[in-house]
Amino acid sequence: MANKYSVPRGTYDILPDISYKWQFVIDVFRTVAREFNYKEIITPIFERSDIFERSVGETSDIVEKEMYKFEDKKGRIFALRPEGTAPVVRSFIENGLSLKPNSSKLYYLGPMFRYDRPQKGRYRQFYQYGIENIGSTNPYVDFEVIAFAYMFLSKLGLKNFELQINSIGCENCTKDYDRALKEYFTPFENDLCSDCRRRLKKNPKRVLDCKVKSCKVITEDAPSMLDYLDEECSAHFDQVQEYLKQMDIPFIVNPKIVRGLDYYTQTAFEFIDTTLGAQNTLIGGGRYDKLAEQLGGKNLPGIGFAGGFERLLLSMEEEKLSLGKPVNPKVYFIVLGDEARATAFRLINNLRLSGISVEYNSDKTSMNAQMKMANKTGAEFALILGEDELNKGKIIKKNLADGEQENIDLNDIVNSLKSK
Ligand code: AMP
Repeated sequence: MANKYSVPRGTYDILPDISYKWQFVIDVFRTVAREFNYKEIITPIFERSDIFERSVGETSDIVEKEMYKFEDKKGRIFALRPEGTAPVVRSFIENGLSLKPNSSKLYYLGPMFRYDRPQKGRYRQFYQYGIENIGSTNPYVDFEVIAFAYMFLSKLGLKNFELQINSIGCENCTKDYDRALKEYFTPFENDLCSDCRRRLKKNPKRVLDCKVKSCKVITEDAPSMLDYLDEECSAHFDQVQEYLKQMDIPFIVNPKIVRGLDYYTQTAFEFIDTTLGAQNTLIGGGRYDKLAEQLGGKNLPGIGFAGGFERLLLSMEEEKLSLGKPVNPKVYFIVLGDEARATAFRLINNLRLSGISVEYNSDKTSMNAQMKMANKTGAEFALILGEDELNKGKIIKKNLADGEQENIDLNDIVNSLKSK
């Protein structure tokens, strides 16, 4: 019978036989962040819920349906963060980071929470990696943010992905475009899903993003955002594409990419896995020049992206890529008899102090049981210390791969392992 205490629906445990894979991709992400000079920022996992309502947008799926909102003991309304950009921008404003050196290029890692129907690649608690570049409207910055994502996926060895970009313009472009979309969709209103009927009234661009098949068919001939970009937005978008071409980053322009959140302006992009099923967006990002103002800051442009580790791992497994190896101890320590124990414990401590990983199991006492454990842990060497060895001031060092063994002076054992 299943235990009544089980993990909440839409969440999962990352167990030791998987966690090393997470560490592997996180290490690659941190490496790329260092190469691009992004610094880590760590914000709380809950925030005032209006931070998301104001920025992500009242009509977004996140705010309408998916936020884990709660009241604390003093009646304040908080939300488990559903995404990372608004908290980073909140922190950026609050801490005056625009005045501090090395603080405008930030990256984050951590869990996000959305109450949605769980399925493959979609969870209620999921882990995102993301970057934000705050303070510039220069199209070079858009290019660099996209190049970061491209380099990250490429370094992991992924091949089956496609970069799709679009520009959703600024407020100036959107007014006419929204009107054109309303005109286009209104005759089909009754054929749209109930969400899209609502979107049509409040934010018609969102209809373009709908994953429902019948809505997708209707959007096929919808007017293109690209025909409504003003001169400035159009030039900005051209320049981003120019940089991508110069640096041989392949992309396609997809005018249907609108991203689900209110704060996006101009460049929007997605990295799509071309083999995964419904949940195939590996990374989504875009420019958000109005976000800081919505959060009470001054005019502070920015651009960033976020991706989910779960889908990344699915893609990597699909492409049969290496995800690192579990890290096993270097040494398994075997102690025979009570006499040797005190010396053994001191030695174990010294080995660890010198940075050598050691496993010892105090429940096993016989040679046979300890040797079995040594092989199971996948250690490189077994060190064997019994009364005989102790009296001679020696210890046996056994290479567990080829079975070769040698007697080493107790005083030399740490150095002998350090040099390997
Ligand atoms: P978004 O913030 O919706 O643009 O999402 C950015 C990225 O986070 C997506 O491309 C996914 O890789 C990942 N993601 C978003 N929502 C979920 C979820 N519910 N479960 C797993 N990954 C997610």
